[in-house]
Amino acid sequence: MSLMKALVKKYNKPGLWLDEVPIPEPGINDVLIKIKRTSICGTDVHIYNWDEWAQKTIPVPMVIGHEYVGEVAAIGSNVSGFFKGELVSGEGHIVCGHCRNCLAGRRHLCKDTKGVGVNREGAFAEYLSLPAGNVWVCDPKIPEEVLSVFDPFGNAVHTALSFELLGEDVLITGAGPIGIMATAIAKHAGARYVVVTDINPYRLDLAKKMGATRVLDVRNEKLKDVMKELEMREGFDVGLEMSGNKQAFREMINNMCHGGKMALLGILDASTVIDWDQIIFNGLTIKGIYGRQMFETWYKMTSMIQTGLDISPVITHRFDYTQFEEGFHLMRSGNSGKIILDWTTI
Ligand code: NAD
Ligand code: ZN
Repeated sequence: MSLMKALVKKYNKPGLWLDEVPIPEPGINDVLIKIKRTSICGTDVHIYNWDEWAQKTIPVPMVIGHEYVGEVAAIGSNVSGFFKGELVSGEGHIVCGHCRNCLAGRRHLCKDTKGVGVNREGAFAEYLSLPAGNVWVCDPKIPEEVLSVFDPFGNAVHTALSFELLGEDVLITGAGPIGIMATAIAKHAGARYVVVTDINPYRLDLAKKMGATRVLDVRNEKLKDVMKELEMREGFDVGLEMSGNKQAFREMINNMCHGGKMALLGILDASTVIDWDQIIFNGLTIKGIYGRQMFETWYKMTSMIQTGLDISPVITHRFDYTQFEEGFHLMRSGNSGKIILDWTTI
């Protein structure tokens, strides 16, 4: 049995282990992908830290990771339409194929989704085996490291394009990697103002680089003052909640215009309380966002990059896969955008 290098959640405790595990055997409906570059997600940090969510969700041992680009190395006997060496990434949500939404083609609303690197073997490895229906063929003109962040970029696109943005004023709470990418997307999609909040100056700086009209550290500045400065009279038309912070969500509700629309990506804790009067009397719309639309989001990601959207400033650090500890350490500090691990040196 041939072995490969992989980052494995090997034990029931904090940490990750660079290990050798069997190369996955692709089934007849699968594609085997040779991984070139991966990027670290907040979810991977939860798994590393072994918090409560990770302990109840992650099987041990398991290869983790779900943000990647690679090339087709082998093709299952039942699969057509791919060729060896083709540059690919993949949708990390593997759907059941049988529920009402799956059958209707609304696969992102599947009732029984399984996550690559969360519920099944992941991509922080030399090889990943993926159902062919989840493989996304990449435009090779797009840089590989940009392709390796298509999964979180897709979260940003799915959220940001939930509502009409042309000429609208957009509030983004949370300048994490996804909020930063959503900033550039909202500008690309024709928003008038894009205002971004956070409590981390490093990340607010990145949001500015990605085209935010105005960024603010909510510890020192108030949204109401920024709205005055921009001569906004009635509040934000569209809100993209990307912090998972309940204060940020409340601030968003307080500053929406009547009839405003909010898309929630950030995972809010169960203790989050909101003033329902504001939702009802101000006629606000709230939409929950999970994952990416398969594969409309992937199509839009590609076409926006082809038409000039530049998300590359979100990538702030690059390491060899053997230096994963440094990458995770930096992610935990908050002083980074996306961090890429290079697997081409094996
Ligand atoms: P992240 O944790 O890196 O970013 C969150 C940012 O919010 C941080 O920069 C943090 O400083 C900031 N923040 C904290 N308190 C704040 C406040 N009071 N006001 C404004 N900002 C504040 O996360 P990310 O990787 O960019 O992802 C964004 C969110 O989306 C996270 O909550 C993540 O768990 C969630 N997520 C959801 C899905 C989904 O499918 N629904 C998918 C991916 C990520
Ligand atoms: Zn389903």
